[in-house]
Amino acid sequence: MHEKQTTYRIGPIRPPSEANSLLLQITEGCTWNRCKFCSLYKHESFRAFTVDSIKKDIDVMAEYAKLVTSYQEEDGALNRKAVLAKFDGMTQDEKNCYYLVYRWLANGGENVFLQDGNSLAVKTERVLEVLRYLREKLPSIKRVTTYGRAETLSKISAEEYVSLKEAGLDRIHSGFESGSDRVLAFIDKGVTAEQEIIAGKNIKAGGIELSVYFMPGIGGKELSEENAMETARVVRAIDPDFVRLRSAVIKAGTGLWQDFMDGRIRLCSENDKLQEIKLLIENVQGCTGYLASDHIINLLQKVEGKLDTDREQMLAQIEEYFSLPPLRQKLFQAARRYGMVSEPGDLDLLQKDQLNRLEAFVRSVADEASWDEKMNEIMMDYI
Ligand code: SF4
Repeated sequence: MHEKQTTYRIGPIRPPSEANSLLLQITEGCTWNRCKFCSLYKHESFRAFTVDSIKKDIDVMAEYAKLVTSYQEEDGALNRKAVLAKFDGMTQDEKNCYYLVYRWLANGGENVFLQDGNSLAVKTERVLEVLRYLREKLPSIKRVTTYGRAETLSKISAEEYVSLKEAGLDRIHSGFESGSDRVLAFIDKGVTAEQEIIAGKNIKAGGIELSVYFMPGIGGKELSEENAMETARVVRAIDPDFVRLRSAVIKAGTGLWQDFMDGRIRLCSENDKLQEIKLLIENVQGCTGYLASDHIINLLQKVEGKLDTDREQMLAQIEEYFSLPPLRQKLFQAARRYGMVSEPGDLDLLQKDQLNRLEAFVRSVADEASWDEKMNEIMMDYI
């Protein structure tokens, strides 16, 4: 007799916007694994799980959901103490799975994220079967999202996206990173701008929301303007629902770091990256999506909003920063990267000796290239 399954797989990644989502792992790793800035799955090969095994994971989630909701009080709130009392006698893996379901339900029990890095690489029929089963077993779900590589997504037809939407897939996140073919080739993204556009158009034609990621600075100084302008061209062609900013950091140990060490790429400064964001905003006329700055890695976290109606206020914030004296800009960059402030105006809240120490630090860095390297080094801890 088989023992009853009491745990389910939980993969390593999800977008920050899915922090409260239930995580259902339908694949493991990434089919590409070659992007030069990424170290996520370097020691793992891609694996797709069988539909049967995914259904068993969903069954476990549904069991835990039933158990957790049995501790619902009259006002609808979950009795946390009673829920967590069930930890007694559970293994650590069981606790992790049970707690994820509890946290999900405590946050409304509405969103599910299908992991990992390129889940739609499996045959569409398999994803459809999983989606239908998931929606049937956990009826409180309102939104299901997943990650997909643009190259993979470009091979799925608009008709297939319609079926995926009907079965319950609502949003696809895709790391476009850039719309420049030269940048995409340099970072070995394995996709072209044309494929990004095909993917984006098919997804939107299928009625699924599209959330793409843009990396200001990923092409280095030489390709900085092109990175912004070509990304704007791709965004204009698609008008994604979300463009999420992930300012580039070149992390030690990656292929891009080796390029930097060998002199094949010069680091973009914080100001270069901001200039790319400004160019993007200025050149996406007619787009109505949302520019999201949902990562601490972006220098001006509050530069976000609707690409049409919030355009002027986003540009005004960037201009305000650029109008600061160069020393003040660097004081802010350092203070922000050391976690002391969020906005340029916050510098006024620092004490005199803190400002003095920051200024001594700024003045101690020999030149602009060393400064950019210093900022990049601090930011490595953020990703
Ligand atoms: S497609 Fe995504 S997960 Fe795969 S290597 Fe590139 S960045 Fe990493």
